Amino acid sequence: MAQLSDDCFAFGGGLLTVAEALAEIDGRLAPVVGAETVPLRAASGRVLARDIIAAMDLPPHANSAVDGYAIAHADLLPDEETVLRVGGRAAAGHPLDRPADRGEAIRIFTGAPMPDGTDTVMMQEDCTIEDGWVRLKPGIRKGANRRRAGEDVAEGEVALPAGKRLRAPDLGLAAALGLSELSVFHLLRVALLSTGDEIFDPGTPLPAGAIYDANRFILGALLTGLGCVVTDFGIRPDREAALVEALAAASADHDLIVTSGGVSAGEEDHVRSAVEQLGALHFWRLAIKPGRPVALGQVNGVPLIGLPGNPVAVIVTFIVLARPLIAKLAGAAAAATQVFPVRAGFSYRKKPGRREYLRASLERDGDMLVAAKYPKDGAGILSSVIRSDGLVILDEATSSLATGSIVDFLPFSEVMD
Ligand code: AMP
Ligand code: MG
Repeated sequence: MAQLSDDCFAFGGGLLTVAEALAEIDGRLAPVVGAETVPLRAASGRVLARDIIAAMDLPPHANSAVDGYAIAHADLLPDEETVLRVGGRAAAGHPLDRPADRGEAIRIFTGAPMPDGTDTVMMQEDCTIEDGWVRLKPGIRKGANRRRAGEDVAEGEVALPAGKRLRAPDLGLAAALGLSELSVFHLLRVALLSTGDEIFDPGTPLPAGAIYDANRFILGALLTGLGCVVTDFGIRPDREAALVEALAAASADHDLIVTSGGVSAGEEDHVRSAVEQLGALHFWRLAIKPGRPVALGQVNGVPLIGLPGNPVAVIVTFIVLARPLIAKLAGAAAAATQVFPVRAGFSYRKKPGRREYLRASLERDGDMLVAAKYPKDGAGILSSVIRSDGLVILDEATSSLATGSIVDFLPFSEVMD
């Protein structure tokens, strides 16, 4: 409790900006996962636990980028055609077994090692062959069509840094460096629950006044997409004792607890007080729309993020706060979400002092992308997310937006599968 009152005092009980909340997350939390070794083919989506230092050059040997003739550039006449004898052959997997002689051209194929003594490859389309001799046009640059050893990755370089979430090209690079297994962090174990007396599981009859649980399915998919192993703690009622019991159970054998609903200031919202009973609450009010109530705390030492109840607020706060939090706990380098400048196809007024995320679709207008704001912007309008391409982000300082202004756009494809 001392922790809680200190924190409330520190922020004056006011609203926390997104930057402050992210700094809190970064400052308070550390990676919680140990490392394990997995076969390369099982490493997709995992987070690399150690830097991979290239133990060899990539490519390992200089080789030809085309089918043609390998020569020493110094043998070419500068202003007229050169005729050289074709004295050998090098194919991929079948290097020439001797150095090339001066004045000799070597028939070469893509991927074949460059014979010693050659430095340039003339494409076969630019050559004329006359029984055993090749006629070469003037003007080719020294080193043309030659791939240097180590031009992709040099021996000793960090090929892949620790903290990288591995994707298809990363597995390819590890394989190209000869690695058959990788050291990765354990998957984050996440306990997930919904709160609310009105919330029921799909597939069951719906009593009067009730609604089906959307958030557990949104969050389950988002968490799984980030490589978390999710335990489903179901739907819990709006009673403090029931939430204390559920959170205590969820804190065993999990690295993170994620809840939705029950974090606002209403008398039916008991998540915050349940967290305070079992651990500590670090913050709960954010200067953002949608999604003002978000609780960050810990329960028996396990971090907890309590997201709002409205499904759109769940998605926005997951993208803005839960993703970086999960990256941090899972040992991943902060997922840099790329925002793109687009033109606003609408005007808008907002309260300064808070950050707003507007659902919008993109349309092309000449050289520019223009964002059209989705007409309904309630935090409960889940279809608005489905029918939009991403979020226009308006920062704290903005109070009005004129049509045609350039704004930051975060595509949903950057942050959701
Ligand atoms: P709360 O923050 O608990 O007051 O919830 C805010 C709004 O979100 C209410 O209209 C709830 O009915 C709704 N809500 C809460 N949890 C869920 C859920 N799991 N699925 C869909 N809607 C929800
Ligand atoms: Mg509720």
